[in-house]
Amino acid sequence: MSWESNVRKVVPYVPGEQPVGKVIKLNTNENPYPPAPGVEALLKNFDVSALKKYPESDCHTLANALAEKYNVKPSQVFVGVGSDDVLAMAFLTFFNSDKSILFPDITYSFYDVWASLFKIPFEQIPLDEEFRIHPEDYAKENGGVVIANPNAPTGVFMGLDSIRQILDRNRDVVCIVDEAYVDFGAESALSLLDEYDNLLVIQTFSKSRSMAGLRIGYAIGSEKMISYLQDVKYSYNSYTMNSITLAIGVEAVRDDEYFRATCEKIINTRERLKGQLRELGFEFQDSKTNFIFAKHSSVPAEHIFKELKNRNIYVRYWNKPRISEYLRITVGTDEECDTLVANLKDILR
Ligand code: PMP
Repeated sequence: MSWESNVRKVVPYVPGEQPVGKVIKLNTNENPYPPAPGVEALLKNFDVSALKKYPESDCHTLANALAEKYNVKPSQVFVGVGSDDVLAMAFLTFFNSDKSILFPDITYSFYDVWASLFKIPFEQIPLDEEFRIHPEDYAKENGGVVIANPNAPTGVFMGLDSIRQILDRNRDVVCIVDEAYVDFGAESALSLLDEYDNLLVIQTFSKSRSMAGLRIGYAIGSEKMISYLQDVKYSYNSYTMNSITLAIGVEAVRDDEYFRATCEKIINTRERLKGQLRELGFEFQDSKTNFIFAKHSSVPAEHIFKELKNRNIYVRYWNKPRISEYLRITVGTDEECDTLVANLKDILR
């Protein structure tokens, strides 16, 4: 026997590449615009001596700001190190039964990794041919449900009537709705919180607030649910969020005008890019996110992916069943997308 037989062996999640140097980076759904202007001012004036103290363990300043924005109680908000951390804590807290949790076969590829890490049984429910989720597929007995809405990497958005159907049929388990991309034109399930105590909505500062590098995510749910989530977090690490990040987060939430303007710019570029990609022979389901999941009518995705990379343009490609003919292209600035389109024209010639 070796010590290795006792190791918790996992197949980890593989994040998108972060290349160094000057490239056009459309591979990890980052926002091409900088964070709100107040963030820079705050960083410049940050009182460094404040760092000698531990940060707020309950993140109340940021939870208060988010509660105000979303019109909920601060005790309904849980803050974590990006939505990855919040999702991981939520899996650990709420999925503690012998029954399988359910999520789509094509979705955020971290869900099955957390389930494996925490030894949570899971079942992946196939999306239909058009990458749609059918609520009735989630009516079977289960230990919980996780839905990314809009879904990733497909970009497909499911209406709140369908989310309602899933919540109605799963009153006795926690249903997580991962809304990482909701701010780019989709509709949030936050409006359903008063009706459903089994709903936990998770959002992030990484996309619509241009702060992937800072790491802020949050969950909003019933006070009871959030208190269970806090208990697990305090049993693991009391100080997940550092003081600088918390202060910057508050600044970003308060600048609603900048937030809206940035989302609008991305939505406009996305709609423009949809037309350009269609002209080039790409096909895709409609996207309400900051990316487009597209397949070319004749040229293999892997070829296009490699050719773009040779030209320092990074998009995301997975050599996985059902999606190996697709590229996930993040919406950048208008200029970045124009350069992408010019290069695609050349590659597809
Ligand atoms: N959920 C989905 C669906 C995502 O695509 C991502 C981004 N990789 C995340 C959650 C995590 O984002 P973050 O940890 O940066 O908040």
